[in-house]
Amino acid sequence: MDKKNRKVIIVGGGIAGCVLALALDKIGMKSEIFEARQIPKDDVGLFHYLSSNAMNVYKVLGIDDKLKDLGHECNGVIHYNEKGNQMARIDEKNSLKDYGIKSIMIKREFLTRVLREEVQSKQIPIHFGKKIQDIINIGKSNVTAYFEDGKSAEGNLLVGCDGVYSKTRRIILPNSPKPFYTKMVFTGGYTQTKITDKELNIIHSNYGKKGFLAYFVIPNSNEVWWWNGVSYPKEETREEMEKLSNEKWQQAMIEMYSEDPPLIQNIIRSNEINFIKYPISDMPSVDKWYKQNVCLIGDAVHATVPANGQGAAMASEDGLMLAKCLRDIEDIEEAFSKFQKLRQKRVEKIVKIGRTAGEGYLITNPIKKWFRNTMLILMLKSPFFGRMKDFFFGYSVEWDKNTNEIQ
Ligand SMILES: Cc1cc2nc3c(=O)[nH]c(=O)nc-3n(C[C@H](O)[C@H](O)[C@H](O)COP(=O)(O)OP(=O)(O)OC[C@H]3O[C@@H](n4cnc5c(N)ncnc54)[C@H](O)[C@@H]3O)c2cc1C
Repeated sequence: MDKKNRKVIIVGGGIAGCVLALALDKIGMKSEIFEARQIPKDDVGLFHYLSSNAMNVYKVLGIDDKLKDLGHECNGVIHYNEKGNQMARIDEKNSLKDYGIKSIMIKREFLTRVLREEVQSKQIPIHFGKKIQDIINIGKSNVTAYFEDGKSAEGNLLVGCDGVYSKTRRIILPNSPKPFYTKMVFTGGYTQTKITDKELNIIHSNYGKKGFLAYFVIPNSNEVWWWNGVSYPKEETREEMEKLSNEKWQQAMIEMYSEDPPLIQNIIRSNEINFIKYPISDMPSVDKWYKQNVCLIGDAVHATVPANGQGAAMASEDGLMLAKCLRDIEDIEEAFSKFQKLRQKRVEKIVKIGRTAGEGYLITNPIKKWFRNTMLILMLKSPFFGRMKDFFFGYSVEWDKNTNEIQ
């Protein structure tokens, strides 16, 4: 069958699913998205840091300007110790020159809305209320997805973009390692508090006495976007967490940051504060990312702790890279194998760094804190850090280069 006549079933209409559909459209390959949510729900979640490497994916898809207009430029991160003194910084001021595009901070609702509207504007079908239940005819040209509503859909290949608890993964790789709860909850939200003496367009990341908190001041406003990662041993679902009283949560945070600089306390004490709470899952590495003509991308195969803000970026890079492999390689399984070869090393390194950074948020022991801070300073000030920065932000899928030429 001519590659262009293939139809791809995409399970999950999140970031990876939408990016993949848009990239397939670019190469003239048909796809259809099947999303579990009953309706498009953009007003959920917090905000994303979209680093240059993520923005370079959106540039290929032609949506970078829309995202830039809806977001705020981000020039890097400043790390502070518990006294509020600067320890080190990651400077992204020259990203336009170095990596061709600037990083941004953007509300998740804008990112998902832009992606979905772009999918819809290309007439790519996106069906809601389609929770995948089973897949049959794996390896045959009519691979078939069954949904909980009793309906089914056929395609020549299927890609699971259904997130960290991926049903597609459980169907095709039943023995693959399972995600696990990290005993950490990310909370965060938007608040109003006047911060005048801090650099704008930069993430301020504070390693306090008992806990971590980062914030981003929205230029020309009193709006502050903030988040933290806190120890929370009891495993609960997002829905259960959302039911916890905000007042009690705020009280616990006030206590946790009571010995930190007043600015941190002000953020938490603000009357207009709201808390969104995410229990964080991690996942051991998966050996094989596909089975015959069914493949996994994004969080479905390599979920990461959000401490280095790369989950959406990785999902987006995956979507573009998989479309490129399908464009350049005739055999579907070979294309999947090449995709995994080109992605796995990078993704696993980033997942590992994110895991270490996340663990660092929870340290309260003074000796361990000293060690963490020293390592952070040494790493960020090391002459080799430039290489690490390039690895994260300078990555490109090299859309125009034939996949067969990349080893
Ligand atoms: C608190 C927090 C902050 C974060 N901050 C950042 C950040 O700043 N920068 C960054 O790059 N990343 C960040 N991330 C990570 C990022 O959100 C994820 O890595 C990214 O969303 C992964 O995209 P995905 O499409 O693979 O999965 P998801 O976004 O989880 O999408 C999966 C989709 O599949 C659907 N689905 C699930 N099950 C089924 C099923 N059975 N059938 C059909 N559909 C199904 C879901 O409804 C969903 O729409 C953060 C994550 C968290 C939790």
